[in-house]
Amino acid sequence: MDQYLVFGNPIAQSKSPFIHTLFARQTAQQMEYKAQQPELGQFQSQVAAFFQAGGRGCNITAPFKEEAYQFANQLTERAKLAGAVNTLKKLDDGVILGDNTDGEGLVQDLLQHQVALAGKRILLVGAGGAARGVILPLLAQQPSELVITNRTVTKAQQLAELFATYGNIHAAPMTTLADQAFDVIINSTSAGLSGQLPALPASLIQPHTTCYDMVYSAQTTAFNQWAKDLGAKCVLDGLGMLVGQAAESFMLWRGIRPSAKQVQRELRMQLLK
Ligand code: NDP
Repeated sequence: MDQYLVFGNPIAQSKSPFIHTLFARQTAQQMEYKAQQPELGQFQSQVAAFFQAGGRGCNITAPFKEEAYQFANQLTERAKLAGAVNTLKKLDDGVILGDNTDGEGLVQDLLQHQVALAGKRILLVGAGGAARGVILPLLAQQPSELVITNRTVTKAQQLAELFATYGNIHAAPMTTLADQAFDVIINSTSAGLSGQLPALPASLIQPHTTCYDMVYSAQTTAFNQWAKDLGAKCVLDGLGMLVGQAAESFMLWRGIRPSAKQVQRELRMQLLK
């Protein structure tokens, strides 16, 4: 049985074992996927021990994504630019490859919901680790422009500079957005975890606007409720991104693309229980 793990602290609430167990069943893969919670400072030794014992691959979640980036012997382009790794895979020659599948998970979820990105104007709200991880995959869809805004505007400016050679990306303070229109607005802030909203002008939400909140919950998130009340065309939460990033990791490990839709449905039902 091939062994896989997710590392995080805390990890008890992680949906990854559930998701990957369903993916494995769906695709008839002989694999086992468990969760492990290293104490802070113990990640590197535990992940090394896991691979030494024959482990094939792992996911990494908060707060170890930057340490996983350091641990990898080789990085994909998107992981390099994200500055963080959420997937490690032991290659046949023993090299540990680090990837970041979060952004592709987001893009695939949007595309599955028929949200067009090519040629569209996208606003990315937030400039933390999650935002940095999705910029390259978003730019690869060739939007007409990707604007990044953040409470601390200097962080948005730093990200816009970092990705300037990869597409049409600019930073803007939230206060300058009032007279602007976007096709897609992605909230990557953690404001919703405490029921708060980023200070965005209401005029941003127009009848053609799709809003995506990376946070997910049983109830509509604070950001999506705000957008819905203002008449957004469609609101989506981050559950699909969670399943999408897992599907990308699974694909990297097993070479088979699982169906994200069915697993997403089951997770949503679980959330609503
Ligand atoms: P970080 O801590 O790195 O960044 C947090 C971001 O949120 C910063 O831009 C911060 O702004 C902003 N922020 C926090 N509170 C507020 C507030 N009250 N008002 C406005 N902005 C605020 O976190 P991550 O980027 O790693 O994660 C962000 C969110 O994305 C989390 O909620 C996480 O759960 C979610 N996520 C979801 C995934 C999924 O699969 N669905 C995957 C990855 C992340 P400032 O710089 O000014 O402090």
